[in-house]
Parts: sequence; structure tokens; C-alpha cells
Amino acid sequence: MTEKVITIDGIRVYVDMLARIEHSCDPKLCGRQGNCCSCYQIPLTKAELSRAIGLSSHAANYQPDLLDEDVELFEEMDDDSLILGSTDTGRCVFAFPRGRGMYCSLHAACLELDLPPYRTKPAPCTLWPLCLSESKPLELAVMGDAKQFPCNRLLKKPRKTLHAGIAEILDELYGPDFTEKVNKHL
Ligand code: SF4
Ligand code: SF4
Repeated sequence: MTEKVITIDGIRVYVDMLARIEHSCDPKLCGRQGNCCSCYQIPLTKAELSRAIGLSSHAANYQPDLLDEDVELFEEMDDDSLILGSTDTGRCVFAFPRGRGMYCSLHAACLELDLPPYRTKPAPCTLWPLCLSESKPLELAVMGDAKQFPCNRLLKKPRKTLHAGIAEILDELYGPDFTEKVNKHL
């Protein structure tokens, strides 16, 4: 099937693909394994890293392991790019278990400090289950493995408007005008 792609504000957007997913995060659904904070290497910009480091002492109220001097908040890759640090099991160093779910200590610290969590966390965290390619021009699509997570539902046909959970992600990262432009193409 050929995917419908529209360029919006310089980003190639796979509009029908975005309209075929419904997403509602409820950490109690995914349990401690196989959740989105344990499955990926999260690329970071320098600004995102600075924000994460700046919030780490507050985040440690929720994830005390962050105070361990052996914990690396980030890793530098061979090509000099940066990714969020992770534990031996692949879990992000900022993730912490509570009850049956996994939560984000950066997100919790933002709420504590009255900061907007979705604009403070690394963009890939806010975007998930969507993803932005590193290509030029940028391409906005849905993660290939999205359907294996219980918070995502993939539909056979595109919706007439984006699901609220997807619209919220776009609103936070690109603004409501961007979301409206996507909806106009559906
Ligand atoms: S977005 Fe999905 S996988 Fe990630 S914490 Fe929420 S329910 Fe779990
Ligand atoms: S920073 Fe937060 S949302 Fe992002 S991977 Fe780590 S725990 Fe998950």
C-alpha cells in the first residue's frame, strides 16, 4: 500500500499512518517489561541532555538510583551522538517502577516543579509511538513496533481525524496549527 505523505512545516508527514493509530498511555497496562522506556536507545540533543541533567536531583526523589555515582545519565556513541543512559536490562536510567507499571522520573520531576513535561523531556519520549527520522527532510511516522504495546491500537482504515492521544502529542511538540493541518488532509 502506498502511504499518503504531506509536507507540513518542512516535515514529511505520513498522515494516513498517523490516522491509523490510537494511543492512550496507562503505565499499569504495560507492566514492568516491554514498556516504551525499556526498549529503545533514546537519542538526545545537547539541550535535552542539559535539561535532563538539571532535573536529575529532583528526579532522584522518584528514582534514587540516579544518585549512584556509577549511574551514567547519558552515553556518547562512536559518531559523537548522545543517547540516554540505560541499565543492564536496557531500561532508561530515569524510569522507575511503581505498582505494576513503569514511570518516568523526569516527568514526575517536571510536574513537581510546574514545568511542562512533554516539552521538557527528550523529544523522542514525547513523540512515541510516533517517530521522526533523522533524514533530510525530516519524516514523521509511526514506530514499526507500535502494535506490540497494549497502549496502542492499529486500525485497518485511517480515522477521519487524529485520535486524541496522537493529536495531543503533535499539539505538544509542534503546536495545534500543525495538528489541524494534518487533520485537514484526512
Ligand atoms: S506509553 Fe505505553 S508502553 Fe509507554 S509507559 Fe505508557 S502504557 Fe507503557
Ligand atoms: S526519559 Fe522518561 S520517558 Fe524517556 S525513556 Fe527515560 S523514563 Fe522513559
